[in-house]
Amino acid sequence: MYEIIIRGGTVVDGTGAPRYRADVAVQDGKIAKIAPHIEGEAQREIDASGKIVSPGFIDYHSHSDNTILLGPDAYNYLEQGVTTEITGQCGTAPAPSYPGSLKELEGSLPPEEYQRIEKACDSFRSFIDAVSAMELGNNIAFYIGQGNVRGRVMGFDDGKPTPERMEEMKQWFRQAMECGYLGFTTGLVYAPSVYASEEELVELAKVVGEYGGSYASHIRGESDNVVESVEEAIRVGEKAGIPVIISHLKVIGKQNEGLSQKVLQVIEYANARGVKVRADQYPYLAGSAPFLSCIPPKFHVGGEDQLVENLKDPAFRKKVTDSIQNEYQEFASNLIDAGFQGTLMAGCAKTPQYVGKTIAQIAEEEGKDPWDVCYDLLVANEGVAQGIYFSQNESDMLRIIGHPYVMGGSDWSNYGKHLDRNQVGGGHPRGTATFITRLALLRDHGLQTLEQAVHSITGLPAEMSGIEGIGVLREGAHGDICIFDYAKLSADSDYIHPFGRNHGLDYVLVNGKVAVEDGLYNGVKNGRVLKKKQ
Ligand SMILES: [Zn+2]
Repeated sequence: MYEIIIRGGTVVDGTGAPRYRADVAVQDGKIAKIAPHIEGEAQREIDASGKIVSPGFIDYHSHSDNTILLGPDAYNYLEQGVTTEITGQCGTAPAPSYPGSLKELEGSLPPEEYQRIEKACDSFRSFIDAVSAMELGNNIAFYIGQGNVRGRVMGFDDGKPTPERMEEMKQWFRQAMECGYLGFTTGLVYAPSVYASEEELVELAKVVGEYGGSYASHIRGESDNVVESVEEAIRVGEKAGIPVIISHLKVIGKQNEGLSQKVLQVIEYANARGVKVRADQYPYLAGSAPFLSCIPPKFHVGGEDQLVENLKDPAFRKKVTDSIQNEYQEFASNLIDAGFQGTLMAGCAKTPQYVGKTIAQIAEEEGKDPWDVCYDLLVANEGVAQGIYFSQNESDMLRIIGHPYVMGGSDWSNYGKHLDRNQVGGGHPRGTATFITRLALLRDHGLQTLEQAVHSITGLPAEMSGIEGIGVLREGAHGDICIFDYAKLSADSDYIHPFGRNHGLDYVLVNGKVAVEDGLYNGVKNGRVLKKKQ
């Protein structure tokens, strides 16, 4: 007798192959059998007639490593079908910690709890061991955040590493790869990751290459310089001989509408000459990032506390404003790309009255200069605030989402508690609905077949990750499964109500156990840490 038999569904197996009708049996965390009709009984039978049965979805761009030690159950990912989250993105992770990197947690946790986390974040090994010992809602895998390693070895020094420091950074990389990390990531707009030169990144990429890893990059620029920035990321991978993933691929700025054609061409040319390049993307026109990242990196030298302190000084504020306004070619700030009307506060715990408002609105209501609104907000929140920036073009977003090299990525993280589905502000819809929205957009715009769309969030990311047994429905694979009504997939969430529920996704299984029923998380925790095959 099997534990579970899913009967009468249409299997879309994640490889891109045509769908077929079959029963699927699950036993001991794995897919035990797939056949037109499976005889016998099971402890539980799920009727999937009229539904699609696919592998669980893989989120190639998650920041849930930032919250994982706090014990979230991943309900907001499970309810969009994500059974595996690939984390450590944008060059920023909890481990190894460096001065100031755990500030947000330090300020919000009881001292004993903070000490536990501080200890776990001391090294890659202590971190992965700590997460492995936890009960997890879904599966999680890790990339090295290059910013952490640079911060640990060099602090916020923007100079070139000495040979000794370079070797020290490489040692950190080796430790991670030996623990089963997938490769490394950069966030080339965030300090201290941004202080690395291309040459330095190539050196580190070569270490990752020794272990068969890959390089995922939040590139140096996503607006006027997006093409050059994609080219730089590809060069790093090409010189080191490793695959490249362009993170949350997009084109920012109304003035750049259409540039995605050139960007995708650059990616296609690289693949044609033998460099494996893919991208992940979230299907929304507004991005979200720490508010402090609107300020050019050159002002971050000395650390974030210093920057916030400096922002109290009107003369310093003027320098920052002048730089943002006049040195756009050097650093494209979200404040310019989105404008004050297109910049919405998603999180600022110490000034909650501003959540859900734009900078323009706050300036108007308080009769203040909008630049001062920004700096006052950063000072009041000690630098810890999150913005949403409306700065992309729909035509580019749709061109990117339909491209066969593009995977799904939420660029968000697990919620620590179950949030009121009607709450106003405080998040981004990509936290609850990236994968439902992605499938619905591909369907409604006729950009991909169902088989292609499922492949882009299962087989394709599985192959890039180097993790075995995920992203495919075949006998012997992990029992990560989604059951959904393709025609009915839709999301209630939007920018104002980012925590709304999804429709059309009925069941999600993680390692052979049902975790979502009738679209809602049931409290089961059966996820685990996944490592790259050595
Ligand atoms: Zn990023």
